[in-house]
Amino acid sequence: MEFIEAKQRAAELKELININSRAYYTLDAPVITDFEYDELFRELKRIEEQFPELKTDDSPTQKVGDNISQGFKEYTHKYRLYSLDNSNNYDDLDKWYERIKKEYPNEGDIELVTELKIDGLSCALSYENGDLKVGATRGNGIIGENITENIKSIKSIPQKLSRNINLEVRGEVYMPVSSFEKLNEENIEKGIKEFANPRNAAAGSLRQLDANITAHRDLHFFAYTAISEDKSLFKTHAEALNLLKELGFDVNPNYFISKGINPVKEKCKYWETERFSLDYATDGMVIKINDLAKQNELGYTSRAPKWATAFKFPPEEIWTKLEGIELSVGKTGIVTPVALLKPVQLAGTIVKRASLHNFDEIKRLQINTGNEVLIKKAAEIIPKVIRKRENEDFGVYEEPKYCPSCHSELIKPEGEVALYCPNTLGCPAQIEGRIEFWASKDGVDIDGVGESVITKLMEKNLINDFADLYKLTIDDFMQLDLVKEKSADNLYNAVQNSKKPTMTKFLTALSIKLIGKETADLIANEYSTLEEIQNAKSEDLVKIDGIGEKAANSIVDFFNNEYNKKILEKLKLYGVNPKGSAFEKISNIFEGKTFVITGTLSKPRNIFEERIKKLGGKVSSSVSKKTSYVLAGDNPGSKFDKAHSLGVIILNEKDFDILSEGNNAL
Ligand code: NAD
Repeated sequence: MEFIEAKQRAAELKELININSRAYYTLDAPVITDFEYDELFRELKRIEEQFPELKTDDSPTQKVGDNISQGFKEYTHKYRLYSLDNSNNYDDLDKWYERIKKEYPNEGDIELVTELKIDGLSCALSYENGDLKVGATRGNGIIGENITENIKSIKSIPQKLSRNINLEVRGEVYMPVSSFEKLNEENIEKGIKEFANPRNAAAGSLRQLDANITAHRDLHFFAYTAISEDKSLFKTHAEALNLLKELGFDVNPNYFISKGINPVKEKCKYWETERFSLDYATDGMVIKINDLAKQNELGYTSRAPKWATAFKFPPEEIWTKLEGIELSVGKTGIVTPVALLKPVQLAGTIVKRASLHNFDEIKRLQINTGNEVLIKKAAEIIPKVIRKRENEDFGVYEEPKYCPSCHSELIKPEGEVALYCPNTLGCPAQIEGRIEFWASKDGVDIDGVGESVITKLMEKNLINDFADLYKLTIDDFMQLDLVKEKSADNLYNAVQNSKKPTMTKFLTALSIKLIGKETADLIANEYSTLEEIQNAKSEDLVKIDGIGEKAANSIVDFFNNEYNKKILEKLKLYGVNPKGSAFEKISNIFEGKTFVITGTLSKPRNIFEERIKKLGGKVSSSVSKKTSYVLAGDNPGSKFDKAHSLGVIILNEKDFDILSEGNNAL
């Protein structure tokens, strides 16, 4: 690049970055994604490296954050706050580590502490004699906003430490993803603009002039730095983290200490995908030198410490073009719109489709083919569409009137948002959907019998419903044009081996409206035989905790339907029977108690489930206020965080054994 061209581009980039920094830091309302911002920032850095004369003092690469907003009192930090240099590739991590090692040529591998980079708002808390005196935002690193009152409303920040010491504590204020989604739902209902992401929701909630508003938002704090004049308190970063825990702060448990950079890279790879199971947003990992003496020796650039660096995860959100909307008809007749996207790379995979949920969602997003849309990857594998580019108008995709599979007129039952195809018995898409679901892993799990085999069986008129699968002979399978590994013998045996599913699997596989695995499990726990369930009345079913009127009616309707009766008769005829599932209770010590299991335990989960049920308890798959205990193994997921925030008792395996004491030999 020529100097003149570089100068012009640098000026453009500086302006663009400054405008977007203001939108992000001061207004808590970013216009571009973090990935796009980082790309602009890196481009400017590259130009400044090539032409150092363009690196002016006012360049965004030389400063931290943005100026503080009006309305808050200024607070001059006792110790300056910095940003972090970051990169999104592993070579840069190697280069950073090599630079450090050069400074210590006579030492072996250097001890590093790697932490999750929490995507919230950094705050500095000043304690004198153990009392919280000031809470402030980072601001430009030298002057921040005094938000002491707001900080005091965050429950996980102690106002009095367990020791009367002077200490500066730094950390990240964040909003759990679940609370962010709830807040946005409430904002949509009230007609208030939504927050773009949990980070902006946390920042917008904390930087409120009225601290009462902050108090009503679900904010938390992870502490990650302690600074003290008393050098005897801690000599390493890991010791500082231990002290913070001892003083009552939440320290994110997922940090680890290693020698050298290779284990760090492995952990970065692990968290790149695993982060989606957490109930808080993380945008990367922070790698710090453990020894504080070395940190002091290495020092800072004008913007960031040299003794730390951040690895940024690939973007969770990215813009792409909506190339079309496909209608998919599910097994219960629900017509779901699916976004067909111009393929883009997002968090490690190429994304071509995204969920749009229903037609109300399309109206809310105001989208149509042609729009640029922001897509996001969350816990689900299928990403979702967040919003369209502002000021882009391609009209709004119209709700369809007819089923794309059988052309029946679609209906919308009162009180529901979903559109249904009412042609339950004749709609090819619904029939195929039910057969596919019956054979799927969530159904009775028939290995090898997936979409392509089922389509071929239907084309050849060999099956019309899932019960027909059991009348198929090896010769029937031989008629299909099968790929090698799917031999007719194997498919036949797989079908025959699925004749004795558990009651939960059997009920789930039937595709009863509103009855998923969890509800099926509740019913299976209550009744011993299929006949009892077929004869159950709505008023009996609603007595089961967790089953509402709609689900109860749906079960009764299903078993009263003549077509379904015929299928069940056929299944019986072919010898397909659910195994009785009511667990023989041997004690009532867990009577009325609901357990949720998460993480990896020493034995398969069903062993624990069985044990809970035998002792009179119930097992649920989601945590709520009604949950009595969460049994957590290693690497627990978001259920652990939710239990924590709801104050549900969390048990490890040992606690669980003690609780079920006397019954361990089960
Ligand atoms: P940063 O967020 O990349 O890194 C520094 C910050 O990381 C620290 O200040 C601290 O708040 C945080 N952090 C989280 N966990 C930490 C831990 N365990 N240890 C230490 N620090 C931890 O830098 P920044 O200066 O705060 O912000 C720059 C970033 O903000 C950009 O890279 C971009 O992603 C985003 N940004 C986006 C826009 C936009 O328009 N979308 C605009 C401005 C900034």
